[in-house]
Amino acid sequence: MLTEERIRELLENLSSQQYHEAIFGALKESDGQVYQLLKREYERRQNTLQLMAAENQCSMAVLAALGSVLQNKTAEGFVGARMHGGCEVVDDVESVAVSRAKETFGAQYANVQPHSGSQANQIVLTAILESGDRILSLALEQGGHYSHGSRISFTSKFFEVDNYYVDKESLLLDYDAVREQAVKFKPKLIICGASAYSRTIDFAKFREIAESVGAYLLADISHISGLVIAGAHPSSIDYAHFTTTSTYKPGGPRGGLIVMGKDYDQRIKVGTKDISLWEHIDKVTFPGVQGTPYFNNIAAKTVFFKETLSDEYRSRQFKIVKNAKRLASNLMDLGYEVVAGGTDNHMVLIDVANLRQGLTGPTAQKCLEECGIIVDMIHLPYEKSPSAAGGIRIGTPIVTKNGMGAKEMDSISALMDAVLRKVEPISDSEYRIDGALREKTQTKVKDLCSRFGMR
Ligand SMILES: *Cc1c(COP(=O)(O)O)cnc(C)c1O
Repeated sequence: MLTEERIRELLENLSSQQYHEAIFGALKESDGQVYQLLKREYERRQNTLQLMAAENQCSMAVLAALGSVLQNKTAEGFVGARMHGGCEVVDDVESVAVSRAKETFGAQYANVQPHSGSQANQIVLTAILESGDRILSLALEQGGHYSHGSRISFTSKFFEVDNYYVDKESLLLDYDAVREQAVKFKPKLIICGASAYSRTIDFAKFREIAESVGAYLLADISHISGLVIAGAHPSSIDYAHFTTTSTYKPGGPRGGLIVMGKDYDQRIKVGTKDISLWEHIDKVTFPGVQGTPYFNNIAAKTVFFKETLSDEYRSRQFKIVKNAKRLASNLMDLGYEVVAGGTDNHMVLIDVANLRQGLTGPTAQKCLEECGIIVDMIHLPYEKSPSAAGGIRIGTPIVTKNGMGAKEMDSISALMDAVLRKVEPISDSEYRIDGALREKTQTKVKDLCSRFGMR
């Protein structure tokens, strides 16, 4: 029998590669092809710089729960009210998940069943809106999310959607403009929270606006929920009626979460019944929107919520912001235009179209990737060229998790700059890059990453 201590000792002495091979162990025997793919993905991640703002890296304990026997359990419904037999263990799992989620977010209600962040939003929309009801949300091309009523999402088929926009000059949220628009449009739901916004979001102001027009407020904090947990960004919990998040962006397993603060017990009329908001959210989750919960996933969320209560997790969230600020200021010193003049969170949005004639977001993303630096292209607010995205989004959660700090941020901004200065754009998505520069950058990236093995 392996003792806990012995397991810890063994794990601590494994190299990053051995650690991941241990995880893949059982698979190697039965499916060599998938094993090789996982190995390739491990190597890709280990040998390149993950500057993805929408990604993170969960712990081995989270991976273990994801790969556990709980994956086999079918049980529709909620704790104590399942439609299937054999639920004593999963009831306990979900109860612990809910209580830890409430503790970590300081919430009164938590629903750990949503399969994704988008689905968490769908549940809230389904719960409080009838078809034809109005949503006011941040425009997709300015950092909003598909699930907030975008034309290309199903949400726009059933609801009437209007967007608010950031200020043309500062590229910051313009609360007066949001208020004006809310008064005119009279939405039933206002959504705040973004996929590409690097500054602090004032949830109190959004609530004030929602109150003034009698709308519900949904805060989708997918990108910043780790920071919110740690207090590195103000919390939405008691300002929004509903807060949703993906659980992978803050560093847990894939999946979604709905939490509620002081409004959890507000009454809502559903048909002829008068019930509390949280009860209604439960009912809409199942059977309204979803079927069976993923219990392996819920167990993994439970493990993750415990991690978020640790000092290590909480102090790391502040380091993530510090690293992002360092990257932003380095890039501005190098002459880059950073959207909204900097960052308060984990992401930096860079206007590459403004840096050099002919350079686009797609070109920047591709040529950086060729050199081992992984970023996202992104549309920028009020873009000049409509033909191609003009920006890139970089994020610091993963490099920070792997232990990188100020010195490494300086290396990263220098490496990025060397590539973006020298690449020769040919079209919106084609370019030429000097082979020697590419190889030199790849080698430097690999060296840097090898000193910070991913776990
Ligand atoms: C990532 C993201 C989501 C979607 O989460 P999924 O789990 O990928 O569906 C929702 N809202 C915002 C603002 C996001 O950034």
